[in-house]
Amino acid sequence: MKIDVLTIFPEFFGQVFDFGIIRRAKLAGIVEINVHDIREYATDKHKMTDDRPFGGGDGMVMKAEPIFLAIEHLIGTSDRAAYPTGTRVVLLSPQGRPLKQTVAKEFADDATHIVMICGRYEGVDERVNETLVTDEISIGDYVLSGGEPAAIVVTDAIVRLLPEALGSETSAENDSFSDGLLDCPHYTRPAEFRGMKVPDVLLNGNHAEIEKWRREMALLKTKKNRPDLLEGENGERER
Ligand code: SAM
Repeated sequence: MKIDVLTIFPEFFGQVFDFGIIRRAKLAGIVEINVHDIREYATDKHKMTDDRPFGGGDGMVMKAEPIFLAIEHLIGTSDRAAYPTGTRVVLLSPQGRPLKQTVAKEFADDATHIVMICGRYEGVDERVNETLVTDEISIGDYVLSGGEPAAIVVTDAIVRLLPEALGSETSAENDSFSDGLLDCPHYTRPAEFRGMKVPDVLLNGNHAEIEKWRREMALLKTKKNRPDLLEGENGERER
């Protein structure tokens, strides 16, 4: 998979993709991530990437032209219908489809080239969304100052689901949301710490009992923190 991030603040990303699972996935050739400065695609002598909003009002709006030029450079066309198969152009936006594990999985399974557009100010000229964007994605119901943190979140959620990215020592199968529940609690050594003991069931080596306990704990945690996850189309889902 190739991920290209378009931003007016490329320095923002620093070494953020150089740790842990993403770093390993990059080194293994599972993913290539490049950050591009939108300003490099601005054509006027001041390299402007934003301008005042038509109709008046506060703030600035990111211009369409540099983003169109960047997409043409990275994808070869700004005709959405002619994007190569597996190409997705993501606009990070609080107005987008909420990011969920299922959405991340869909990208991990289907996409081979993702271009992420990070907005700033009041947002991006709507013609970008109308014409170039295949997926408008929100990371939650709150407003960030820019799309950069959202691009990092979306990238991380997708890359760890790519085949082989997690390596053999861990798996996404039991992670929260993978089976509709939150994850169960985890403990490590020592078995007793400041008088706090690890549940006996985890120490007895009975794998069937351990599995049963983990499932019960996951269900309890989900009921407590995220009862909405248990709501099926017809009310409470049987588990
Ligand atoms: N005026 C916009 C609105 O109310 O919908 C908010 C613009 S916000 C200050 C600037 C940029 O941050 C957006 O263009 C978007 O790229 C990014 N952003 C803000 N909140 C986000 C969220 N919840 N998810 C993804 N991106 C977000």
